[in-house]
Amino acid sequence: MAYDQNNIFAKILRGEIPSAKVFENDHVLAFNDIAEKAPVHVLIIPKGAYESFADFSQHASEEEIVSLNRAIGEIAREKGIVETGYRVISNHGVHARQEVPHYHVHLLGGDDLGGCFN
Ligand code: AMP
Repeated sequence: MAYDQNNIFAKILRGEIPSAKVFENDHVLAFNDIAEKAPVHVLIIPKGAYESFADFSQHASEEEIVSLNRAIGEIAREKGIVETGYRVISNHGVHARQEVPHYHVHLLGGDDLGGCFN
């Protein structure tokens, strides 16, 4: 499947629609989820055109992969949720109900998130 240049996160990256930015570096942009499920709900995305974790983990450079993962940890520290705990989720494909076809990681915290699998 070809990467959809018109997906909503591609538009955010091009500055065509606004986002509540919380972090940016050469490879990564992070912004608040528009329908937050926790007091902290940040989406961390690569600037490169990758559809999902499957695409990113296979085709991204090591620099991009390291940069994105380091960004998750840095944002968690900036948000002050390391001590209290947080959850990192990424949905790939239909069975995971991925909605936006640009790789993204959800960082959730700031309250008791409940059980993940019950
Ligand atoms: P997923 O189901 O993993 O693809 O999650 C997509 C996420 O993107 C959902 O949590 C949406 O609330 C979020 N979302 C969709 N549009 C926007 C937007 N314009 N700005 C911020 N978050 C968005």
